[in-house]
Amino acid sequence: MNIPYRDLRVKDEGLRQKLLQAVEKVLSSGRIMFGPEVEEFEKKMADLCCKKHAVGLGSGTMAIYLTLRGLDIGPGDEVITTPLSWIATLNAITLTGAQPVFADVDMDFNINPGRIEEAVTSKTKCIVPVHLMGKVCDMEQILKIAEKHNLYVVEDAAQAFGARMNDAPAGSFGHAGCFSMNPMKIFCAYGEAGIVVTDDDKLCEKLKTLRYLGTLNRGDCQYPSFNGKIDTIHAAMLLINLKYLDKRIERGREIAGYYNKELKDIVTCPQGDGPEHVYLSYAILTPERNELAEFLQSKGIEAKIQYPVLMPNHSAYRKKYAFHAPVGQCLADQMLSLPNQDYMSMEDASFVISNVKNFFSR
Ligand SMILES: *Cc1c(COP(=O)(O)O)cnc(C)c1O
Repeated sequence: MNIPYRDLRVKDEGLRQKLLQAVEKVLSSGRIMFGPEVEEFEKKMADLCCKKHAVGLGSGTMAIYLTLRGLDIGPGDEVITTPLSWIATLNAITLTGAQPVFADVDMDFNINPGRIEEAVTSKTKCIVPVHLMGKVCDMEQILKIAEKHNLYVVEDAAQAFGARMNDAPAGSFGHAGCFSMNPMKIFCAYGEAGIVVTDDDKLCEKLKTLRYLGTLNRGDCQYPSFNGKIDTIHAAMLLINLKYLDKRIERGREIAGYYNKELKDIVTCPQGDGPEHVYLSYAILTPERNELAEFLQSKGIEAKIQYPVLMPNHSAYRKKYAFHAPVGQCLADQMLSLPNQDYMSMEDASFVISNVKNFFSR
């Protein structure tokens, strides 16, 4: 048996043919930059997220960074975020010059609104909640706090495209929603891509400038910025991939539901079994996670230790932002993500389950 954590090969022959046709069309059109597919993709993403605008970018990191810049967040401002996320979140905040402030998570891996409230100061300008592993944060509470203190909310929805809360889509709650479509995400390109959705006309215009070196259509440079555009080829392939997304999410939910049912009496399964979660990762908690990961590896199952180091404890940050997050630390020490991808069969999932059970009954 060999069950990889992710399998990035395009194995669906129908999908592969459609992707190749989409690429072929872009190559023969010569519209390699800002082709019509970019606009079509942006329009589709805005519609799906119930927002007026979407701006395609080169990555999810760029999406968060440029959105904060677009909202004039920088030196002297504080931005509240979670300690438990992929380091991209913290890098994007820090590179604006703003001061990150951390609020510990809950046992569901997402930021705890109560801790956000405690972290607000007169300098706080924005909250960046991360919908970790495909589950939307408690946006009702977060929006209430933001309103009370007059703060922006910029959702890091990089892992949660397609997820919902109270039937509203991830990315639709805040002032802006930021997505990554890198190859590891559930809605993925075959290279780097990202997008921001928002109702704010001014922010949309500013993002279009910021993604193009701060220039107005390659003319006058208004502010120093990076080159952060989305490629036409990626937009074209994403438009194809979008049609396969529901099926992919459905499959992930099915496997997550199966894991949950079979494993919840043996280990902690904090993600539960819900119709609004997209399960980019399915993580269990156990104090023996290193041993379990090794055991599974010996059986050909690739489980993944994600985020073993909290963001503020990385080398680049720990001298400046030392932060004790008791819940986040407990999760970081015990999390193990089991393979959950759409090419897995239920027999594969069953093999994973039996081996987790074997480990604990050894
Ligand atoms: C992937 C990811 C990002 C960054 O996206 P890239 O496209 O890789 O730059 C940001 N935040 C989170 C939570 C992510 O998982």
